[in-house]
Amino acid sequence: MATKIHPAVDGGVKPGKTDFAGGTLTCRCGSAAVTVTLKGNTAFNHVCGCSKCWKPEGALFSQVAVIGRDKLSVTANANKLKVVDEKAPIQRYACTACGVHMYGRIENKDHPFHGFDFVHTELSKDNGWAAPDFAAFVSSIIESGFPPARMGEVRARLKELKLEPFDCLSPGLMDLIATHAAKKKGTLAA
Ligand SMILES: [Zn+2]
Ligand SMILES: [Zn+2]
Repeated sequence: MATKIHPAVDGGVKPGKTDFAGGTLTCRCGSAAVTVTLKGNTAFNHVCGCSKCWKPEGALFSQVAVIGRDKLSVTANANKLKVVDEKAPIQRYACTACGVHMYGRIENKDHPFHGFDFVHTELSKDNGWAAPDFAAFVSSIIESGFPPARMGEVRARLKELKLEPFDCLSPGLMDLIATHAAKKKGTLAA
């Protein structure tokens, strides 16, 4: 049996639609659910092995993507949302009743990803969201208790799913962070 990564990819990665206009994320509450509307598709969707991102029960990885903060709005029951950790660079807004993280926001204007919100599109019934295409912070699953001896198995499965495994972010995102740093330092023209 293949190593389970996340329910959204275990049966094979579903391709997104290029003309997809966005949709609604809903928390898991049976009544008075929190909803978040995204006006547009997400970018940089990936599975993440860090211990901070919200993941469904039993999943080894989370699935997380970004969208411009101006394209995200809380459309119902915003009063149920609370920031999980005020001190974290990403303020993750979770539903206080069901625990699902509805979005993560960066308030520090100097952060390389300021302007982007982090979302889990598996919380939407709409079809067409950008598919995940890499795996970030793979080694970090060990910090959540995964046996180090089985990491080969996990990386092989990620490659099979065409989710290239990285132990930090993808090269594209690492380049964005370095570019931001270089512009701040003045080693690269702003
Ligand atoms: Zn909820
Ligand atoms: Zn993460």
